[in-house]
Amino acid sequence: MIKPDGVQRGYMGEIISRFEKKGMVCKGLKTFMTPREVAEEHYKDLSSKPFFGDLCDYICSGPVVCMVWEGPGVVKSARLMIGATNPLESAPGTIRGDLAVEVGRNVIHGSDSVESAEREIALWFGGDDEL
Ligand code: ATP
Ligand code: MG
Repeated sequence: MIKPDGVQRGYMGEIISRFEKKGMVCKGLKTFMTPREVAEEHYKDLSSKPFFGDLCDYICSGPVVCMVWEGPGVVKSARLMIGATNPLESAPGTIRGDLAVEVGRNVIHGSDSVESAEREIALWFGGDDEL
């Protein structure tokens, strides 16, 4: 998911292009204004963290781009391409390493396991947008 700062800073094309060039196949894509309860459900494992409220405010602060990418080892591969959570520790060449400086404005979310991806696809693409 391209987070609101990534959309607002004009990085939709660049980020989509990186996954396409890698050889992943886009199976779903939409822009979306995130309801608060969806943000809270998405990050529910972090609900005890002090930054949880700010994190949900940030995710709801503007449109996001929800995407489903398919390919061999795609979850692990995408996480490597995205880089470490804190952009100051993300390697150059990664999306966060190249495009961000703040942990609270780190441009993109990537599912951390196949199970998370399945849960998140159901959350973000369930209902009317079912794939
Ligand atoms: P994401 O789930 O967004 O792909 P991640 O898996 O790399 O990121 P998580 O530990 O799941 O990292 O944290 C989710 C998000 O919470 C981070 O992307 C970041 O925006 C925010 N976050 C994490 N740690 C901090 C922190 N110490 N201070 C502020 N925000 C944080
Ligand atoms: Mg995460």
